[in-house]
Amino acid sequence: MAEETKASNFIRNIIDADLAANKFAGRRWSGQPGPAEQHKVSPGDTPKIRTRFPPEPNGYLHYGHAKSICLNFGLALDYEGVCHLRFDDTNPEKEEQEYVDSIVDAVKWLGFDWGPNLYYASNYFDWMYQFAEYLIESGNAYVDSQSADEMRASRGTLTEAGKASPYRNRPVAENLDLFRRMKAGEFADGAHVLRAKIDMTSGNINLRDPAIYRIKRATHHNTGDKWCLYPMYTYAHPIEDALENITHSICTLEFEDQRPFYDWLLEKLAQGGLLQRPLPQQIEFARLNLSYVVLSKRKLIQLVEEKHVDGWDDPRMPTLVGARRRGFTPEGFRRFAEMIGVAKADSWIDMSILEACMRDHLNETAERRIAVLDPIKLVIDNYPEEDEELCEAPNHPQHPELGKRPIPFSKELWIEREDFTENPPKGYFRLFPGNTVRLRYGYVIKCEGCTKDEAGNIKSVHCIYLPATRSGTPGADSVKVKGNIHWVSAKHSYAAEVRLYDRLFKVENPGSGGSDFIADLNPDSKRVITAQLEPALRDALAEERFQFERHGYFVADRVDSKPGTPVFNRAVTLKDSWAAKS
Ligand code: ATP
Ligand code: MG
Repeated sequence: MAEETKASNFIRNIIDADLAANKFAGRRWSGQPGPAEQHKVSPGDTPKIRTRFPPEPNGYLHYGHAKSICLNFGLALDYEGVCHLRFDDTNPEKEEQEYVDSIVDAVKWLGFDWGPNLYYASNYFDWMYQFAEYLIESGNAYVDSQSADEMRASRGTLTEAGKASPYRNRPVAENLDLFRRMKAGEFADGAHVLRAKIDMTSGNINLRDPAIYRIKRATHHNTGDKWCLYPMYTYAHPIEDALENITHSICTLEFEDQRPFYDWLLEKLAQGGLLQRPLPQQIEFARLNLSYVVLSKRKLIQLVEEKHVDGWDDPRMPTLVGARRRGFTPEGFRRFAEMIGVAKADSWIDMSILEACMRDHLNETAERRIAVLDPIKLVIDNYPEEDEELCEAPNHPQHPELGKRPIPFSKELWIEREDFTENPPKGYFRLFPGNTVRLRYGYVIKCEGCTKDEAGNIKSVHCIYLPATRSGTPGADSVKVKGNIHWVSAKHSYAAEVRLYDRLFKVENPGSGGSDFIADLNPDSKRVITAQLEPALRDALAEERFQFERHGYFVADRVDSKPGTPVFNRAVTLKDSWAAKS
């Protein structure tokens, strides 16, 4: 990936210091995740750092995940490290293969490679269980048989210490026996939980004997019905990191209060010789908050289920599958991630920044084409009926190496309805009776007027062309004009479906001000039109992206396009059309 020098940030500073101190040099790695024993016989870990992206496969990835993916995989690339893709699938109830597949696709699409390091947390259930038995044996965990309500009530508050459970001092042997019977399925869901034994008076509520295992009869997408006992996320996650020899475990700020437990747990297990040192370090950064969208999985699911959008990959959805159909680019996301950087404090990023990153990349890479989105006929009265000729248009103004393409010209053209008016306001330089404009890549024309139907609607605009002014010929500039309009030849162009997408929500922070976020949906976020396109666009391949001159960037939809009949989606307009509104 050819990116410029990266801006420094607090995470890079931590990594730099760790590398300078040779912190991870002594670690071993057998090539597969596992406890300390497994790595002992193996050679030293060669990559300088190991990061991971650990999605829970319970939904589609969204723009916020892109920030985390670019950060974790980006650091691994920059520091000659590796980044693991790990499915954090310890909760059996919400996880599905469909989500696993979509996550794999999305990370690949963003341009990142995990090599052999694709892992499932559920493959570590046996180790997690053994580690829990060790915690019991070492006096660091106990089986609590209080009800959920009782546990909640005795947990205390921010200002008030918690109270010890009556079961807190159960003998080790009894704890072990109960825990094994929990695993064997002898008890009903919720009858007992395993809790870490830390400190019921801790100022950090997360250290007041957090639950680490619960009984739950649920079929898991990977382990089936093998388990009726599942680890809690806060217990599983640090262990996953340690088993995989992660060096820097980067997560979002809401886990900051969990860090003491993360460290406590791994320290206990390392003391028992179950994990090798140095242990992974958790580092928190501020999540992406983006205006004009929602990024909570719950809200995204609601949008899909209530059919406010056409599925997870609707081009308006802030999912990565949606972004891909929208015509957004992986490079645009990487540029965006680099631009917004990482910080320790929460902040809001305006959608226009993401759009600008997409626009910049599309501007550099997308070939130009011509489309008339709201067509009206233009008849050139002095051009012979049977004649036609080929004009030439550059495929990219900044990249002459991309060549030119012929665009047919004839007596009847399609132009944009808004490029003609009978009563021009001040400063209107396009077509009105008596005015001259250039037909881009063609001739200068002089407007003669228009014809109307009985209801007074304009049927066609009429003009004469000035034969000596053809673009690219010596006389081209002999007549100076202020307006320059685009067109397609009516005989050669073709009608096609084009979808004009816009922001999904009409306000910066949907659902703020007490309203339901659904009420803030932008009713104009999708408009389907029939446009007239230049003939070359028939050959567009699915996912090929173009600038439609004067209109914005468009992509051939990857789902609905068929060979010879691509359907186009607008990714972004040429300019930020929202800046003035907000
Ligand atoms: P939830 O935990 O509510 O299911 P989530 O969005 O946190 O949702 P995960 O699958 O746990 O989903 O996320 C995977 C990774 O992506 C986590 O490391 C998480 O910190 C990160 N992540 C999620 N949302 C954002 C965001 N808005 N900005 C940056 N990183 C994010
Ligand atoms: Mg999460």
